Amino acid sequence: MTIGETVVSSGALAALRAGVRGQVLFPGEDGYDAARTVWNGMIDRRPALIIRAAGVADVIAAVNFARETSLVFSVRGGGHNATGSAVADGGLMLDMSLMKGIRVDPEGRTVRAEAGCLWGDLDHETQAFGLAVTGGQVSDTGIGGLTLGGGVGHLMRLLGATVDNLLSVDLVTAGGRLLTVDSEHHPDLFWAVRGGGGNFGVVTSFEYRLHPVGPIILGGMLLYPAEQAAEILRFYREWMADAPDELCVTVALMTAPPAPFVPESLRLQPAVGVIVCYVGDIETGQQLIAPLRAALPPAADLTGPMPYTVLQSLIDDAAPWHQQVFLKAANLTGLSDDVIDTIVQYGTHLTSPLSIVPLNPWGGAISRVPEDATALGHRDTAFSVYIFAVWPDPADSERHMAWARSFHEALRPHMNGTYVNELGQEGRVAEAYPPATYARLVEVKNRYDPTNFFHMNQNIKPTV
Ligand SMILES: Cc1cc2nc3c(=O)[nH]c(=O)nc-3n(C[C@H](O)[C@H](O)[C@H](O)COP(=O)(O)OP(=O)(O)OC[C@H]3O[C@@H](n4cnc5c(N)ncnc54)[C@H](O)[C@@H]3O)c2cc1C
Repeated sequence: MTIGETVVSSGALAALRAGVRGQVLFPGEDGYDAARTVWNGMIDRRPALIIRAAGVADVIAAVNFARETSLVFSVRGGGHNATGSAVADGGLMLDMSLMKGIRVDPEGRTVRAEAGCLWGDLDHETQAFGLAVTGGQVSDTGIGGLTLGGGVGHLMRLLGATVDNLLSVDLVTAGGRLLTVDSEHHPDLFWAVRGGGGNFGVVTSFEYRLHPVGPIILGGMLLYPAEQAAEILRFYREWMADAPDELCVTVALMTAPPAPFVPESLRLQPAVGVIVCYVGDIETGQQLIAPLRAALPPAADLTGPMPYTVLQSLIDDAAPWHQQVFLKAANLTGLSDDVIDTIVQYGTHLTSPLSIVPLNPWGGAISRVPEDATALGHRDTAFSVYIFAVWPDPADSERHMAWARSFHEALRPHMNGTYVNELGQEGRVAEAYPPATYARLVEVKNRYDPTNFFHMNQNIKPTV
């Protein structure tokens, strides 16, 4: 049989099938199409085979098989990366999604989670004990890709990035060896996997430090018509500059959903969502939101005490699967009037009602970790902006992509790099790291993956 460009004997294939406890799927087999599908509907790639790992032994078998047959190798965690790097066309895709084991240690406040977990899975288990770690803002994002790129979310100002709470990983190298990687074992690799993406190996499980969060927090969204976007962003700039770490506010330029909670006049109209997360005493949180409500009364106010897990899935519907997605992003050192004007100009003229432009505030704990402590780049960022152009019809791509490109170009003079997980289809990996960080990542890549076996990612190219 020919796989990719390699002729593989039926004996070798039989051995692979026998040696994998999970599933080995070829084109046409049941489950193949579902497994190769990722969040961005623009990605329609067909791996020569898919291995759905049930455990570490399957991961080792997949890595060894791909290396021995020279197949391009990719790893799928939650399938959320807009670039589709999880899916190797004509190669071997390793699907981690069956590996969902989670063990919480409530006393020691740690959790070990297998790499196929989504943030909703992890939050579900840790919140049973009122504990959490910084995670993604959309609950079906994979912990794998998100953590390896750094990890930002509602808790980053309070607890730092996801990687600031990473204690260890189990990782399978390009040579098929399992390593336990932490601050004492392979510290160079431990530094690199905290922000360097999937460049260094397949992580089979992550161990995180947990913190008391909720389970009831103050959260939810205030909704405004787009005409107020500039005023909101100016207020937001000052608000976040003085905000305590416990408060994190995401502002999203979007189209108001046709939902019952939205006033009729605003449904399907350009709008601004202000998404609040306050971890702490509810009354104190209310006092922190009060100035916004007083200065800019919202058209709809959906904030209040809620389970942290509800906040963590609040915007899931704003990130639907199977749409065409083109992503650009920028880290900013501040929201100058010029930047605000640009964001308002483009963000209130979305070319598709599915498009969305969220801004996240950095600062707080994430900014107090030294830049060289982990590979996550640009900790001096004040706000990050994600430009998600999202539309249903593949034949209608040009104008949506042109809008996103033009928006991004207008922000470029104000950019402080880009968050690696949001580089999108056209981002350059060097933008995600200051030069010294990038050089150190190359050194670690040279040491652990000199042949660039792991290149389906935001790739750090080896130089040996
Ligand atoms: C709607 C949406 C919301 C998002 N929200 C956030 C957010 O709140 N915070 C944030 O930080 N990011 C966010 N992101 C970005 C997200 O972190 C990245 O897209 C990330 O790559 C997703 O991880 P995944 O496992 O789902 O991705 P996948 O597409 O499955 O994988 C992407 C890449 O990650 C690597 N990878 C994944 N798992 C492993 C593993 N086990 N071992 C080695 N490499 C692996 C591989 O290189 C792979 O190509 C969001 C993205 C989207 C689309």
